[in-house]
Amino acid sequence: MNNKSSNIINEVNLDAATAFNRNGLWVALLIMLLGIVLFSLISNSSGQGEGPLINKKAKLHIASTDTDDIHKIMYLADSEWESIEHSNFGISPKPHWFMVQIPSNAATDQRLIEVSFANLDFVDIWFVDKTHEQPVILSQSKSGDDFAFMHREIAHDQFIFAIPDSASTLSLFLRVETQGVINVPIKLWTEKEYIQYIASHRVFIGIFYGFMAAMALLNLFLFVTSRNIITLLYAGYVICVAVTLASSQGIAYRFLWPESILFQQYSTPFFASSMVFFLSHFTAKLLDIKSDFYPLYNLYRAIRIVIVVYIFCMFILPFSAMVTILVPMVLMVMFVIFSSTIYIAFKGNSIAKYLIAAWCSLSLSSFFVLADSLGWISVKLDLTYLMMVGATMETLLMALGLAMRFNAQRIAAKQAHIKARENKQKAMQAKKELMRLQIETKERLEYAVDARTYELEIAIRELNEANHELERKSAIDALTGVANRRLYDKSVLAEARRSRREKTPLAIAMLDIDDFKSVNDTYGHQCGDEALKHFTAILKECIKRPSDTICRYGGEEFVVILPNTDLEGAALLMESVRAMTEASQLNCEGEMIKFTVSIGVATRVISSDSESELLNAFADKLLYKAKEAGRNRVMSGVF
Ligand code: GH3
Ligand code: MG
Ligand code: MG
Repeated sequence: MNNKSSNIINEVNLDAATAFNRNGLWVALLIMLLGIVLFSLISNSSGQGEGPLINKKAKLHIASTDTDDIHKIMYLADSEWESIEHSNFGISPKPHWFMVQIPSNAATDQRLIEVSFANLDFVDIWFVDKTHEQPVILSQSKSGDDFAFMHREIAHDQFIFAIPDSASTLSLFLRVETQGVINVPIKLWTEKEYIQYIASHRVFIGIFYGFMAAMALLNLFLFVTSRNIITLLYAGYVICVAVTLASSQGIAYRFLWPESILFQQYSTPFFASSMVFFLSHFTAKLLDIKSDFYPLYNLYRAIRIVIVVYIFCMFILPFSAMVTILVPMVLMVMFVIFSSTIYIAFKGNSIAKYLIAAWCSLSLSSFFVLADSLGWISVKLDLTYLMMVGATMETLLMALGLAMRFNAQRIAAKQAHIKARENKQKAMQAKKELMRLQIETKERLEYAVDARTYELEIAIRELNEANHELERKSAIDALTGVANRRLYDKSVLAEARRSRREKTPLAIAMLDIDDFKSVNDTYGHQCGDEALKHFTAILKECIKRPSDTICRYGGEEFVVILPNTDLEGAALLMESVRAMTEASQLNCEGEMIKFTVSIGVATRVISSDSESELLNAFADKLLYKAKEAGRNRVMSGVF
C-alpha cells in the first residue's frame, strides 16, 4: 500500500518535471520571439539614421606612408591614398592616417563627424580646404582615451567633432593611434539627423542597461538571501558583460571613471577577462561539472587560474601585451566552455541546451559586429544594438537555465524528502514488528517457565513423597511391619527425654522367642518367618496404648518401649504377652507350631541421656536371666 502511494507521488513529480521542461521550452521560444521583436524594432528605428556611415557616401582612404606629420600628409598625392571598404585594422600600435572627402554643405545645417569606436587612445582630426592653391587647415581637434574626459570638445560617449562651415568640399584628415584594436567606423551627421538618432538611441541604451542592472541586482539579492554562490556568479557575469559593453561604447568612461585615463585603458581587458572568469565558473556550477564530469572540472579550474594570473599580470605587463593575449585567451576559453557544454548537452543535460541557446545568440551578434567591421559583410543597422539584443537574449536564456536548475534541485529535494519519509515509516514499522516479536517471545518464555516450574514443583513433590516413603520404609521392618532397630534408637531417645522432662518412669521390655532355632530347623525358614509375624500380631493385640512402640530388635528379638509405665504395669503387660504366646499356636503348612517367649523388663525415671542405653542393657540382662532361669518367663526390675 505504502509503496504504491509513493510511486504515485514519484510519478506526479516526474510529470511536474517534464511539464516544467516543456514550460522551459516555451519560455525559451518566447525569449527568441522577444529577440526578433527587439531586432525588428531597432532595425526600423535606426534605419532613419543609417545614412551617416561615411564610407557609404564618401570613400575612406588610408595613407600608405610612414609619414606622421599633418603638414606633410595633407600634401600627399591621391595615389598615396588607398581606398578601403572596411574600418577594422586589428591590433597595431603604429599611427594610422585616414582621409575622407566631405561634400560641400548645401543646407545650412550644422554637420558632425562621429568616430564610433570609443576605445581609441589618440584621435586627432583636421578639416582642410584643398580648393585653394595651398591647403588651408580650417579647424583641428584632439580627442581619445588618453585625454581626460572633461577635455573633450564635445562631451559625448563617442568621439564627436563639429565640421566647420564651408561652401566647398572639405578634406578630413584623421590620425589614430592606439594600443588596442584600431577600428574607425566614421559617421557623418547633420545636426537634425543626429538629434533624431540620439533621442531613440538613449531610450534603447537606457532600457538595456536598466535591464542588465535589474538582472544583476535581482541575483545579488538572491545571493544575499539564499547564499547560493551560483546567483553571485551570474550577477558577476551580467555586470561584466554590461560594463564591457558600456566601456566599448564609451558610456563607462563618461559616467563611471571620467577622471581615470589608466582605468579606461585597462577596463576592457579587465572586464572582458572577468566576464569569462564568471562565465566559466557559472557554467561549471550550473552544469554540476564537479560531480558529473570531473576531468572537465579540472580543466575549468585551470581556466579560472589562467584568468586570475592574467588579471594580476595587468600590474606587470605592458598594455599592448595584455591586449594581444586577451583575444586568443577569451576565444580559447569560450571555445572550451562552448564545446564542453555541447558535449554535456549531448549527454542528456537539458540545462546545457539553454546555455548553448544563450551563447549562440551572443556569439551570433558578436560575429555580425566583427564581420561588419572587417568588411566581410555590410549590416544595415546600428551594430551596438545588435550586441545589446544579443546580450539581452543571452542574459535571459542563462537566467532560464538557472531557473531550470533550481527547479531540478527543488524536485530532487522533494523526492529525497519523500524517500526519507518512506524510510522513516519503514523503520517505524520494523520497530513495531520487533516490539511485537519481543512481547511474543517474552510471553512464550514466561509460559514455558511457568510450565517448567509447575513440572518442577510436581517433581519435587513426588520426590518428597518418595523420600518420605523411603524414610518410612527405612524405619519399618519389612517382614513384620513394626518399627525396626533404627526407629527404635530414635524413639527410645525421644521417650527417654520425655521421661526426664516429665519425671515419669520409662519401661523397656526385651523379648526373645525361645528355641527359635529349632522352629526353623524343624519347620523350615518359611514357617519361622510366619512364626515371627504371628508373634508380632500377639504383641499388637496386647500392647494397645498409642504411645507404646513395638520394635523388631533383630532376628527373633523384639523390644517394647512403654512410656509413663511403672514396673508393675509393665511386668503385668509382659506377663500377658508371655501367657498369650504360650497359649496360642500357629498353623503353618498343616503343622501346628507352638513356641514360648522370655522377657526382661526394666523401668526408670530417666535423669540423663546415657541412662536410656543402660536401661536397655539392664532389660537385656534381665532377659538373659529369664533364659537362664528356664525360659518362658518374665523377669523385671527397677534399674
Ligand atoms: P534361646 O531359647 O536360647 O533363645 O534359643 P534360640 O534357638 O531361640 O536362640 P539363638 O539365638 O541361638 O537362635 C536364634 C535363631 O533364630 C537363629 C535363627 O535360626 C533364628 N532366626 C533369627 N532370625 C530369624 C528370622 O528372621 N527368620 C527365621 N525363620 N528365623 C530366624
Ligand atoms: Mg535370640
Ligand atoms: Mg531365642
